[in-house]
Amino acid sequence: MKFALIAHDGKKADLVSFVLKRLDFFNRPDIDVIATGTTGKMLIDAGVTKVQRVASGPMGGDAEIGAMITRGEMQAVIFFRDPLDKHPHDVDISMLLRLCDVHNVALATNKSSAKMLVHYHQK
Ligand code: PGA
Repeated sequence: MKFALIAHDGKKADLVSFVLKRLDFFNRPDIDVIATGTTGKMLIDAGVTKVQRVASGPMGGDAEIGAMITRGEMQAVIFFRDPLDKHPHDVDISMLLRLCDVHNVALATNKSSAKMLVHYHQK
């Protein structure tokens, strides 16, 4: 089961703390974490063992994850967006969110919905 984890700069600390509280879940053998470049590095440093890093978001990482969604490879996306900041790659972000809807992939864009998503997949 592949989970994409992405966080904008203003939300990266929140995502790391979210994951640290659920490390047993994200390190489960049946869960693969895919993350954009900088987010991925922070998750590895925090102790997530199986992280596949794609490019950094502004360099096309969101687009790479979008392609995985299109190929049916992604089961869920947790994307801690920062709604109070500007992002040079807004078009890529919109594309990623749109592709989740096109392909009916579960998407959480804040901590409350991410909690529900993880809870749902807990054994
Ligand atoms: P990053 O990309 O993890 O490489 O910072 C996330 C983003 O800003 O979309």
